[in-house]
Amino acid sequence: MSDSAAERTDTVVIGGGVVGTCIAGFLAEAGMAVTVLDAGHAAGSTSNAGSLHVQMQSRFMRLYPDRVPGLEAQLPLYPLAVRFWAELGTRLGLDFELKLTGGLMVAETPEQLAFLETKAAREREIGLDVEILGSEAVRQMAPYLGPAIIGAELCRNEGKLNPLAANRGLAGWTRGLGVLWRRGVHVTDIVADGDGYVVHSAIGPLHCRQVIIAAAWDSGRLATPFGLAIPSIAEPLNIAITEPAQPLIGHLVQHADRMITLKQLAAGQIVIGGGWPARAAEGSAAPGLELDSLVASATLGLHVVPALGLLRIIRCWAGNNTVVDGRGVLGRVATSPGLAIAIPGDAGYTLGPLAARMVADDILGRVPIADIEAFRPERFNVALPAQAAPTRAART
Ligand SMILES: Cc1cc2nc3c(=O)[nH]c(=O)nc-3n(C[C@H](O)[C@H](O)[C@H](O)COP(=O)(O)OP(=O)(O)OC[C@H]3O[C@@H](n4cnc5c(N)ncnc54)[C@H](O)[C@@H]3O)c2cc1C
Repeated sequence: MSDSAAERTDTVVIGGGVVGTCIAGFLAEAGMAVTVLDAGHAAGSTSNAGSLHVQMQSRFMRLYPDRVPGLEAQLPLYPLAVRFWAELGTRLGLDFELKLTGGLMVAETPEQLAFLETKAAREREIGLDVEILGSEAVRQMAPYLGPAIIGAELCRNEGKLNPLAANRGLAGWTRGLGVLWRRGVHVTDIVADGDGYVVHSAIGPLHCRQVIIAAAWDSGRLATPFGLAIPSIAEPLNIAITEPAQPLIGHLVQHADRMITLKQLAAGQIVIGGGWPARAAEGSAAPGLELDSLVASATLGLHVVPALGLLRIIRCWAGNNTVVDGRGVLGRVATSPGLAIAIPGDAGYTLGPLAARMVADDILGRVPIADIEAFRPERFNVALPAQAAPTRAART
């Protein structure tokens, strides 16, 4: 298709993960005509575990210590985000199988417990509601935990949902609002064009008035021509699920020093995650499973909850998480009217709908539901070369 025959739409959202989906829905609710373009990668929202995190994850603190200040800046958003998930489900009449049964980060040694005490003290300073449980209290609250566990940090407003049910429900909500979905469409670049943009992909150029980049790890690349150096990278992760079981694990369980998350979905299956690496793939291929990660996470899960040994793992898969600087990258790009970025930050599924709402509010000129200033894309501003953001003419 030639540029003169290019399609037109008002608003394009690039990326149909939880963030892009929710932004599309919120903007369509406000009356905008929205098209979502999605490459169909094995991405965070399509692969994730459905944990609703509030306390800081020890894994992130260990792997990315330099990004902890960013995570701390974002910490107050997590309890709001969990509440927002619940309110969204109620408002839209959608059942996400959400349960707020609390989260336990367990410790096996006095050193790990001391780490949790320091972490909890810091989190309380920032406003989270967390407490430390000793051996007796944790055993009473979570009798399913193995004998090695000597204490835990409890965060009562953590929980879980079923991401398959949530993703399906949210996509259906957007379709009901008239959002046009185009899947299998990888956006190669965005070009400023008069008072709008042209979005390029294999389906040909698409002209629009505004573009929201919600393309997770690929967002940094797509935003580069607009003077933003967002260091978004893909982090391929493994995950597994068991056959359904009787109610066993009530809480979202994590470990103070080792990579494990365990939770039981409403249908009884237990999801074994924790951020074990998968094998990175070229281009748009799905990340490959890493057998060592599967064995290690299952072994660790069995150690934390011995009754897991009675269950069979029926499925394992991998997808790409996105890492930036611990904080989300959210909101309009001041120097490029009509362009906005939406990357939620660590535990991005938990943050997804709230982050989307903050960006949609910003685009719509409403006061954002939560303060967006600390997350604005401008912190990644770089000087553009003499020639500003590329125009259509400059590209051809
Ligand atoms: C295995 C795994 C388990 C996880 N578990 C949890 C959890 O339990 N709780 C939690 O809070 N978080 C979890 N996460 C993180 C969470 O899933 C992500 O942070 C979140 O889904 C990000 O949402 P998103 O919409 O920003 O991005 P994504 O869900 O990654 O979606 C981005 C979308 O953009 C599309 N895209 C990318 N580039 C382009 C392009 N150039 N053109 C068109 N489309 C493009 C992709 O196809 C994709 O659909 C997990 C992640 C993984 C990988």
